[in-house]
Amino acid sequence: MQIPSTGRHGELVKSLKQFLNDQSAAPPAERDCAHCGAVLSYLQTQFWLAGGEQNWNIKLPYCPNCHPLPAGRETFLA
Ligand SMILES: [Zn+2]
Repeated sequence: MQIPSTGRHGELVKSLKQFLNDQSAAPPAERDCAHCGAVLSYLQTQFWLAGGEQNWNIKLPYCPNCHPLPAGRETFLA
């Protein structure tokens, strides 16, 4: 029995790429923190797909009051 080249993993990567494309295309709406009401800041984050040459710059919302910037964790490997 042969494993098709586009199996579950291929589908997962495809939907992940679609998600990342959508996220990087849509400008984030300004939001308030649900806990303290402060205006959320946005952290520019780079995503890479393992084994891929593509990467995305995505803005992740965070509250500077409740969640001060984590040091040295600005890159996520998917
Ligand atoms: Zn907050």
